[in-house]
Amino acid sequence: MTTAEELERVAVIDPAAVRHNVSTIAGYVRPAKMMVAVKADGYGHGAVTAAQAAWEAGADWIGVAHLTEAFALRDAGVEAPMLAWLHTPDSDFAEAVRRSVDIGISGWELDPVAEAAEGLQTPAHVHLKIDTGLGRNGCTAEAWPALMARAAELQDRGLISVVGIFTHFAVADEPDRRETDEQLATYRWALEVAESVGVHPSLRHAANTPAALSRPDAHFDMVRVGVGVYGQSPFADRTAEDLGLRPAMEVRTRVAHVKVVPEGQGISYGLTHRVDRPTALGLIPMGYGDGVPRIAVHAPVRIGDRIYRSVGRVAMDQFVVDLEDPETSVRVGDEVVLFGGDSGVSAADWGAAAQTINYEIITRIGPRVPRLVRDSDAEVRPEAAEAGPADVVAGTTA
Ligand SMILES: *Cc1c(COP(=O)(O)O)cnc(C)c1O
Repeated sequence: MTTAEELERVAVIDPAAVRHNVSTIAGYVRPAKMMVAVKADGYGHGAVTAAQAAWEAGADWIGVAHLTEAFALRDAGVEAPMLAWLHTPDSDFAEAVRRSVDIGISGWELDPVAEAAEGLQTPAHVHLKIDTGLGRNGCTAEAWPALMARAAELQDRGLISVVGIFTHFAVADEPDRRETDEQLATYRWALEVAESVGVHPSLRHAANTPAALSRPDAHFDMVRVGVGVYGQSPFADRTAEDLGLRPAMEVRTRVAHVKVVPEGQGISYGLTHRVDRPTALGLIPMGYGDGVPRIAVHAPVRIGDRIYRSVGRVAMDQFVVDLEDPETSVRVGDEVVLFGGDSGVSAADWGAAAQTINYEIITRIGPRVPRLVRDSDAEVRPEAAEAGPADVVAGTTA
């Protein structure tokens, strides 16, 4: 059994945190159903690990961007209802129909999907997407009535079954912005157009995590939640803890070097930082090759019972923290937590240090960092401990 303690660099993934977060979000949104987004390898946590934990905790659907992500989950034995919503002409719609993966449709996909269904003599299950203001994927309001008319026709011919109608919000992380109200109004109109041509979806879905947590009027039949399930807050002014969520990823390593340098010493490429006094420095053996953003400045890490800050540029394999006291008690080999767990340092703190958001920090932790799945509930469940090791080093792809 590999333990986190044996690994030089590790992202410890806690399925118990995922289950806790799914239950917590359920408390906000029930009776609406919950689709849990596990795209991009479960936001870096491992798509299979995330999907299984979410399912155990009562999630109703699994959502991914690409059909290939859905097929990988099916290969791994995930049988949950599943939706994939981002396609190209290379997407294998026939395989989606064969493997019971629902297809999100923004327009051009509808006829190729119907053709695939015809070839298989099996109706394709589709969710039609309206762009109510995000300006990204989804059918424009202008083209919506024609898309609905075509969908009604294909449904009558038995080639498709319209399971859902959905949209995606642009500014739900800022709950007071009126654009969300405008998007909701357009969405309601889109639903009326569908009804008027005889398309009656059983799943109307719009809300991402921020809307699930802040806009009960956007819950409809189902919410699609990602970042909150991983224990991250989607809001700038509320922490995960404020929302009752627990981070499911803890990134750790060990101090690789400690030394005291003289006043004036420059640090790392570009010498963007010079110490203004004799300074103890700790070398952290993770860098942008591991997904630690090069742009991060003054980023926090926990060593022992203190939080230290990075100085100088993050390099490919390493960065440096100022240990402040030349008499520091930090030693080579001491554990360093970049974020997560009960470290008091969050992916959101790294986002702030790197001009980005927690979503990007967790998702970009790279394949050089092994994922170690450690269920924090299994540790206190004797029967689970008997059944096998709590720690599993998981692959970083689904
Ligand atoms: C990623 C995604 C979600 C989940 O968003 P979060 O903000 O992580 O909850 C929901 N819907 C769609 C279409 C997405 O692409």
